[in-house]
This record gives sequence, structure tokens and C-alpha cells, in this order.
Amino acid sequence: MKISKLKLSGFKSFVEPATLFIEPGLTGVVGPNGCGKSNLLEAIRWVMGENSPKSMRSGGMEDVIFAGTQSRPPRDFAEVVLQGATDEDDELEVVRRIERGAGSAYRLNGRDVRAKDIALIFADAATGAHSPALVSQGKIAQVIAAKPTERRMMLEEAAGIAGLHVRRRDAEGKLRQTEANLERLEDIMAGLD
Ligand code: ATP
Repeated sequence: MKISKLKLSGFKSFVEPATLFIEPGLTGVVGPNGCGKSNLLEAIRWVMGENSPKSMRSGGMEDVIFAGTQSRPPRDFAEVVLQGATDEDDELEVVRRIERGAGSAYRLNGRDVRAKDIALIFADAATGAHSPALVSQGKIAQVIAAKPTERRMMLEEAAGIAGLHVRRRDAEGKLRQTEANLERLEDIMAGLD
């Protein structure tokens, strides 16, 4: 998939609405220490469904909301909008919003959706919160030191088959449920004989 635009509001240090245009090709973010480079990358991961506060360098997910400074009060919500296109050139707009005390909500092309729907989209698009296309500081050394199984996962994501694993786990769950239902049915039928 192609990401063309990112809009942030109240996300970490981006207290004022900020829009970032992402041109085709490789994009690098440079700037002085503490200016928000990692926060930007985290915003991309977050809107794609990242749910581990640790990978957001936070104690809890609400910590991504602007916490306030000496001169500015904290915000009540954070919102990130990601615009782009799928490999089939369909327009894509994903919005994730978190409000204090209310958790996260997602919208896909203007419709309310579940976190799972967002996870599937990005898994299928060979991108997503853990995509090797998002290279944070220190990631290069991590790739070099990765175990063979970890490297295989990176290749599977790049090859676009990670979504199939998610669907397989889903299907296996349904199969197990159906088998349990069948066993229960057999028990009931045995009781009727
Ligand atoms: P470095 O080059 O040192 O790694 P960086 O450019 O990657 O820095 P970030 O780590 O993205 O910078 O940003 C750090 C800044 O974001 C800090 O000033 C921190 O106070 C601020 N920050 C992080 N979370 C929040 C929050 N919830 N509310 C307000 N500010 C925040």
C-alpha cells in the first residue's frame, strides 16, 4: 500500500493539528533530539492498530494523548488519520482516536470499524504496525541480529502472506468451535436414543 498523508492531533508532542505529506520513495525524518521524530513513526504504527503501550514507549495507551506542558493544558483525546491507497489503487483513509477513559475507536473510509478489521487490512497490505518498511532508530542493528525465524516473519510480511496467517488462525478457531458443537450434538442425540 502507499501512504500519502498523515494527520496528527493531540498525539504525544503533536498538540496542534499537523499534516505530513509522504511522497513516493524512501522518506527519512531528521531533526534535533526530542523534536518528535520517533513520535511520528509511532503515530503511523498506532493508527495501523498497534496495541502495545511498550512499543509506544508508554505505560498505558492513554499516554499517547498530549500530556500538557507548563504552559499548555493536557488534551482529552488524540487522533491520527492515515490516507493512502491500496495496491489495487483503492483510496484508503484510516482514523484512530483515543479519548481519556473511553479507549480507542477506528474509522475506515468514514465507517466505524473494529480494531480487527484494521489489523486485517494492514496485514494483507504487507505493511502494518510491525512492517519492516517502518525503520526506527536502532532497527537496522536489530535486523542484522535477528534470529532466522524472525527474519522469516519479516520476509513473509514483505511478501504479503502475513494476512493469510491471521485468517488461518481465525479459521482454526471456528473449526475448533464447530467440532465442539458437533460433539455436544452427538451427546444430545445419544441421550435421545
Ligand atoms: P531523539 O532523536 O532524541 O530520539 P526524537 O526526535 O525521536 O528524539 P521523540 O522521542 O519522538 O523525539 O519525542 C520526544 C518528545 O516528545 C519529548 O519532548 C517528550 O516530552 C514528548 N512527548 C512524548 N509523549 C508526550 C505526551 N504524551 N505529551 C506531550 N509530550 C510528549
